[in-house]
Parts: sequence; structure tokens; C-alpha cells
Amino acid sequence: MKDDNCIFCKIANGQIPTRSIYEDKDFNVILDASPATKGHALILPKEHYADVYELDETIASKVFVLAKKLATKMTKALGCDGFNIVQNNKEVAGQTVFHFHMHLIPRYTDDGNNEKLCWNHLELTDEQMDEIKNTLS
Ligand code: 5GP
Ligand code: ZN
Repeated sequence: MKDDNCIFCKIANGQIPTRSIYEDKDFNVILDASPATKGHALILPKEHYADVYELDETIASKVFVLAKKLATKMTKALGCDGFNIVQNNKEVAGQTVFHFHMHLIPRYTDDGNNEKLCWNHLELTDEQMDEIKNTLS
């Protein structure tokens, strides 16, 4: 299903011109309009899923296979030194376009970004860690 109000539905399905670097029946992969580094690309499913929670399981199983193939191909083509694969869900986690997408971010020595994507490190007690483990398992 497509969402008429979704810009990534329109881009993924060719209704808005874009710089596509790969296309198949399920996905369009485009250059990010505001790239973190040279070659930053986005894997877009052609169908509309707002985020990972909505994502169809068959598409989910295909998306990382595609990410691996493209990371390998892009690394050879661009001569980058490393690679981040990033996927944000919901505003609190940095998502700004609410059509599932996976970021492919080639990394270069001295590309001006922090080597590691930043997060804080919590200091939790053993009891807190055990409680989290029990909640999740
Ligand atoms: P998010 O923050 O949701 O994980 O990532 C959204 C990404 O989409 C951003 O990196 C942003 O630069 C990119 N973006 C937003 N609008 C457009 C657009 O119209 N065209 C392209 N090619 N990229 C877009
Ligand atoms: Zn959409």
C-alpha cells in the first residue's frame, strides 16, 4: 500500500525525480539529499511502512541482505574506509521521515563526523541489569 501524503512513497515509486543508485521490485535506493558523507544513500521499500514496527517480515528479511550487497559494492566504488548502517524509528530516536528507510553511510578517515555514532553510557547496578534481562527474556 502507498500513502498519498508520503514523500518517500512518491520518490520510491518514481513520482518525484531522485538520484536512484539501485532499484528492484521491492526497493528503490536513493542518494540522501542532505548527506552525512559522500555516497550516503537510503534504502526505501516501494510500499509504505512507517517504521520497523509496521515493516512486512518478508521485506524485513530482504532489506539487510540488500544493505550488505550495497555496502560491499559502494565500498569498492567509493574507496571508503568503513561503513555505518543506521535505521531510526519514531521521533524520539531521530526519525524525521515516517516511511521506513535504512541509511547506508560510507565512512572515510577524517570525514568530519564522530567515528562512533554517539550515545551515553548508563551506569547500572547488577540488580538493574538483571531486571532488564528478566523483562526482555
Ligand atoms: P531519518 O532522520 O528519518 O532517519 O532520515 C531521513 C533522511 O531523509 C535524512 O537524512 C534526510 O536528509 C533525507 N531526506 C529527507 N527528505 C528527502 C528528500 O526529499 N529526498 C532525499 N533524497 N532525501 C531526503
Ligand atoms: Zn511512504
